[in-house]
Amino acid sequence: MENTAILKLSALEIGKKIKDKEITSVQATQAFLDAIDALDTKYKSYITVCRDSALARAAEVDELISQGKLTGDLAGVPIAIKDNICTKGTLTTCASKMLSNFVPPYDATVISKINAEGMVILGKTNMDEFAMGSTTETSYFGSTLNPWGDNRVPGGSSGGSAASVAARLAPISLGSDTGGSIRQPASFCGVTGLKPTYGTVSRYGLVAFASSLDQIGPIGRDAVDVASLYNLICGVDEKDQSSTETNKIDLDKVRDYSVAGKKIGIPEEYFGEGIDPEVKAAVMDAVKVFESEGATVERFALPIMDYAIPTYYIIACAEACSNLSRYDGIKYGFRPEGVEDLGELYIKSRSEGFGMEVKRRIMIGNFVLSSGYYDAYYNKALQVKNLIYQAFSEAFTKYDVVIGPVAPTPALKAGESLSDPLKMYLGDICTVLINIVGVPAVSVPCGFASGLPVGMQIIGKHYDEETILGFASDFQRATADKAYEQQSPAVE
Ligand code: GLN
Repeated sequence: MENTAILKLSALEIGKKIKDKEITSVQATQAFLDAIDALDTKYKSYITVCRDSALARAAEVDELISQGKLTGDLAGVPIAIKDNICTKGTLTTCASKMLSNFVPPYDATVISKINAEGMVILGKTNMDEFAMGSTTETSYFGSTLNPWGDNRVPGGSSGGSAASVAARLAPISLGSDTGGSIRQPASFCGVTGLKPTYGTVSRYGLVAFASSLDQIGPIGRDAVDVASLYNLICGVDEKDQSSTETNKIDLDKVRDYSVAGKKIGIPEEYFGEGIDPEVKAAVMDAVKVFESEGATVERFALPIMDYAIPTYYIIACAEACSNLSRYDGIKYGFRPEGVEDLGELYIKSRSEGFGMEVKRRIMIGNFVLSSGYYDAYYNKALQVKNLIYQAFSEAFTKYDVVIGPVAPTPALKAGESLSDPLKMYLGDICTVLINIVGVPAVSVPCGFASGLPVGMQIIGKHYDEETILGFASDFQRATADKAYEQQSPAVE
């Protein structure tokens, strides 16, 4: 099989071909490594490419498969990993100068699971520093470019993980989502991305940003690929006390899912002011597809959405400033030269090791937690969090899923939002509520705006990944001729 043909396969198709002995894992891995060599100087979706270890592991996996010791659907399939997920012996930088030399002595739980399946890690992908951002431009290692061209950002913070799948530099990847960082880059790059229910995927070994919101999840070519990787990484983990048991998704159900008879709720506020008219039209057209497949649609009011951005940024920054206090120049990573005393070590390490956006969030976090402002900001945010939770609980008594856009606009021009952080924060309006409530949501390519991909967001009840991925899969079958995902110019 030709290398270019391998690059066009989904992760499950690659797994099947390896199993059927049509290709080997070494061949598949080599095909992606060659593509990375050829294209990634342009896109910069990877921070670290694991050329040697990937090929060595692929050879090992081929052997284990032929001995019948590895039999999973994803055995031998290459994967890209966001660089805030710890990989034993492999640089894990969080795209920060602070961790630019950090080599974890242990694997994150998701990595142990991926290794046990026999997946092959191609490398670690670029991201916003410490996952703070929406463009992958706050990376210490430089920005990633959106493979759809026109000098656009890939979104963020998992921009490298989404861009690598869109450009066929990986068949599937892992990202993390604290306020939209899987869904929004998936939307900008025209791929499918799942933010799972909080707690269903272990956070052990994920470098913490905001622990009550952070969640690892898959980014792939379609809903079935994403479901299969979710099945592999989900489940309770004694190393993460917030992890919970959950049912695995029935892949056949997702594959053949029909939305007939299901109820969709459309929050008016998701289509209000500030939403690009082409984005709105693409998502509404997608909803019509569901209607023609037999689902019913009802609009409802979600006025609490007005408080989404302030609530998220207060909670996320409060948790971030606490989580990031561990970077003191002693325990991890970067340590400046010529320091005289302990105070200076702290100050210089943090002043030189963190970028602007990270510092901004640490300052906001300390402010909202400070004694004079704790009640006015942090406590208020927690109260509003409860109201947001109630609003969604009520919606889910009426609807099977809630649908809206992932982001108000398609991918922004590179350099457009860095100078205006508030504008960047406002772009998170459609995604952050989902993390606050902890429910699952998937971003599915559903059309175009200004020639760039648009994602629809399908939001589900807690632990109901199967239904939202079923909806996504039904949509992808119904619109297969449109190939929303497959037009990425980078592949031709
Ligand atoms: N864009 C959001 C932020 O900057 C979300 C980040 C994320 O999900 N990691 O905080």
